[in-house]
Parts: sequence; C-alpha cells; structure tokens
Amino acid sequence: MRIKIGSMVKFYTIILLYEGNKHGYELIKKLREKLGRNISSGQIYPFLKVLENNKIIKVEKRGERDKKIYSLTKKGKAFAENMLSRFGDLIDIAIEPKLKVCAHCGCKVYKGGYQEKIGKRYLTFCCKHCADSFKKSKK
Ligand SMILES: [Zn+2]
Repeated sequence: MRIKIGSMVKFYTIILLYEGNKHGYELIKKLREKLGRNISSGQIYPFLKVLENNKIIKVEKRGERDKKIYSLTKKGKAFAENMLSRFGDLIDIAIEPKLKVCAHCGCKVYKGGYQEKIGKRYLTFCCKHCADSFKKSKK
C-alpha cells in the first residue's frame, strides 16, 4: 500500500518522528506548536495506525503507565528521506521564480544581493566584487 501524505499534519508527523522517538502526547503537542492550531488525537492515531501497519513505524510500550513510544523503522527512515527530497524539489520549484540571478556570474541570489545602477538599469549581483568585474568586462 502506498501512504499518502496529503496534509501538513501527516507531513509533520513523519518529520517529528524522523527527528526522534516520541510518545503520542508529545507528538500532538509538537504538532500543535509547529502548525499553530489545535490537533486532536483523532487526527493522529488513525494515521499512526496506518504507518504501523505498513511497518513505517514501530510502537513500544514503556514506563509504568504503558506509554506508547513511536519510532521510525529502517523502512520508515528511508520513507521519510524520500518524502523530504520530494518536498525539497517542490520547495525549489516554488521559490525559483522569485530568485534573482547575478548579472555577472549567474549564481542565484536568494535574498538581498547587491544592486548597482549601471548605465540606465539597476542590475542585481551576488556581491560588490561581481559588480566590479561586470563593469570591467564591459569596458
Ligand atoms: Zn556573482
């Protein structure tokens, strides 16, 4: 069976377990922090059950109150890494159009960069050195 990650709750559940083993309450608490809204156990436990049935996570009972500790299996870690790399690609696609490109070296400028008016146009460079080299190359 394929596991669909169709919500932020599911996405973060995997991420949080990838960061380390957690018991159910801790997981819900961290999800609330991450997402800034209330998460009910009804949103989490059915998904954890699916993950357990697919051997993505394993559940151990520990402590005097039989708290359940959830952790990723080896298969689960591979699943999480695969998910992260796919989402990484999506994030790249999402920010790509907003990137500026250095007019001299062509590297991508995520934030700020260095701007200089050359001729009649404002050009963006990654740094002042690139702007200087650019001006030299135009002489
Ligand atoms: Zn540059």
